[in-house]
Amino acid sequence: MTPADARYDEARRVWNGLTAASPAAVAYPTTAAGVARVVGTARETGLGIATRSGGHSATGTSTGDGVLVCGVGAMRGIAVDPDARTATVEPGVTVGELDAATTAHGLATPQGVAPEVGVTGLTLGGGTGYLSRAHGLACDRLARVDLVTAAGERVTASPAANPELFRAVRGAGGEFGVAVELAFDLVPVPDEVAMCDVWFPVDGAADIAALLHEYRALVREAPRETNVSPYVARVPDEPAFPDDRVGDLALCVLGVHGGAPDAGERALAPFREVGDAAPLFERADRRPYPEVQAYLGGGSPAGDRYYWRSVAVEAFTDDLVELTAERMAALPGDRDTVVVWPLGGAVADIDPADTAVPERDAEVVLNFEACWSDPDDDDAHLAWARESAARARDVGTVTGELPNFSGTERGDDAARGVYAANYDWLRETKRRWDPDGVFSPSGRL
Ligand SMILES: Cc1cc2nc3c(=O)[nH]c(=O)nc-3n(C[C@H](O)[C@H](O)[C@H](O)COP(=O)(O)OP(=O)(O)OC[C@H]3O[C@@H](n4cnc5c(N)ncnc54)[C@H](O)[C@@H]3O)c2cc1C
Repeated sequence: MTPADARYDEARRVWNGLTAASPAAVAYPTTAAGVARVVGTARETGLGIATRSGGHSATGTSTGDGVLVCGVGAMRGIAVDPDARTATVEPGVTVGELDAATTAHGLATPQGVAPEVGVTGLTLGGGTGYLSRAHGLACDRLARVDLVTAAGERVTASPAANPELFRAVRGAGGEFGVAVELAFDLVPVPDEVAMCDVWFPVDGAADIAALLHEYRALVREAPRETNVSPYVARVPDEPAFPDDRVGDLALCVLGVHGGAPDAGERALAPFREVGDAAPLFERADRRPYPEVQAYLGGGSPAGDRYYWRSVAVEAFTDDLVELTAERMAALPGDRDTVVVWPLGGAVADIDPADTAVPERDAEVVLNFEACWSDPDDDDAHLAWARESAARARDVGTVTGELPNFSGTERGDDAARGVYAANYDWLRETKRRWDPDGVFSPSGRL
């Protein structure tokens, strides 16, 4: 599909309107051989490739002005082997599709918290989710990935085959080729898991900080199956919320426990009781895991503008609690938020240098998520998110940024900020597998 085609505008559309661009062409291969032909065309023409699977790139890497987009979203096969506890997927499969296929057998693999997002981009960018503290990042359960490399060859990366490539693709995947098949190890999940969603009233930064202090003490003691993330939001105009608080700021506590539901309810209970004020809204129940995964679904409509930054910090210190509360109380719009995402547990079981994702030793990730619609408001939202991230970096001991939530900047400084201590060996691996930078539009190396 080129600009001459009537369907070009549809073909170039991406989820993040902030990153809309005009590629030279969009190609839709449906087989690995087709992908190899697209890579061959890129080499012949000198066009760089931006790879697109689920199309939900927050960082804008699946498009670009003048690039060749390799869109593999139509490759959607899934095969689950319940005895071997593995799932093999083609690159266009979404998180919701994978969850549905695996939970049919009482199994799952940690993925992100939005069913509409692509498994491939999410996993190759690290991938945090409700099961991460219990079972690792999405990329930690990747057993094998087959890629079409810059040389146009299909190559397997796994612990046994091309291990240095396997190490790099888990967190920096788009830099090394087009993934055409991924295999995941699966873990058992109960039929239903415990979750809670509680909205506390807050009046300014001091209130928020008090709640975050309590949260921090609780999360440090919580079992690893427990994933509780506080975030800030405006009270919506919905029947479940008090009329007289609509539009007010609230601190929301979203908790999921990936283990047995009785234990889950016990582990989540203290998080529902932080602070002195009665919640504005409270829900605590058990649900099938795919429903939990879809709980926040639809909250980020396609075409709006998004700029997400994440700062992973070794410790959620008093100073960082205060700073987080201050930034939560100073949102530039109604839909921006700050999410405190807990790490530790199984995420920390892996050495930081074993994958491209550097934040293994982080206690939490602070996600500054700007969301808005009007291009005239770009400056205010971008400035708030950038300043928030810069100040968190100044105050905290930073281990890196989550690749999936790392702004839209390119170049060396951005890459060092994201990959931190892993940057140098990633550059070396990039030189070996993509010496001419065929896949550089997709990334930063
Ligand atoms: C609503 C929403 C919720 C989210 N929630 C989470 C979350 O809970 N946890 C989390 O970790 N992230 C989350 N993200 C971020 C998400 O993981 C990234 O934006 C991810 O890149 C999306 O993957 P995709 O396949 O949909 O995107 P695409 O736009 O298709 O791809 C993005 C990039 O991934 C790489 N990539 C994609 N396909 C391939 C391939 N076949 N071969 C090689 N590289 C490839 C490329 O670099 C590509 O540019 C969320 C995003 C959204 C929009």
